[in-house]
Amino acid sequence: MEFPSLLIQDAVNAFASLPGIGKKTALRMVIHFLQTEPSKVEQFAEAIVKMRKEIKHCKVCHNIADTDVCSICANPRRDHGIVCIVENFRDIISIENTRHFQGVYHVLEGLISPIDGVGPEKLNIASLEDRLLQGNVQEVIMALNPTIDGDTTIFYLSKIIGKYPIKITTIARGIAFGGELEFVDDITLARSIAARLPYEKYLNGNS
Ligand SMILES: [Zn+2]
Repeated sequence: MEFPSLLIQDAVNAFASLPGIGKKTALRMVIHFLQTEPSKVEQFAEAIVKMRKEIKHCKVCHNIADTDVCSICANPRRDHGIVCIVENFRDIISIENTRHFQGVYHVLEGLISPIDGVGPEKLNIASLEDRLLQGNVQEVIMALNPTIDGDTTIFYLSKIIGKYPIKITTIARGIAFGGELEFVDDITLARSIAARLPYEKYLNGNS
């Protein structure tokens, strides 16, 4: 694609570097911004820069947050005895959208993957164990995607959590099977959390 201006070309390339955005869509966006008031364009750019610079990770659960502790961890009405383990903060957004989960979360920021060289030390597992040590957790729900890495991670975590008198459950993956958590619809996800199973039962093939 040829452009009459290097400025336009740079802006198109910037948009085209985003996931799912091709050159044509990028050009459409640039044209849109050309027709927008400069102050509005500044607001748009500022929102992204501010988000990137100021975003924090909750020091309890590693969710994204504007403050040191996220709004879920800081909420006394949530059930802090039920901790739902997820791969990343997008899973929290999916589960929160169902409005059916009242517990709290722990974000691993990845899954154990021997093939990709991701060992447990690269995940937020030490901080999870710190939370378990405090003695307030009664149940841990494994809400990880049904992949080999997901299963490996659940197995590893179950060994750690098994040292404590804590119930371990997995989301009912017979329902959500085949879909990444992110793409499962709200009702299916809400059901699979409500119909969660004890981990041992899942291991025995009764899912
Ligand atoms: Zn938090």
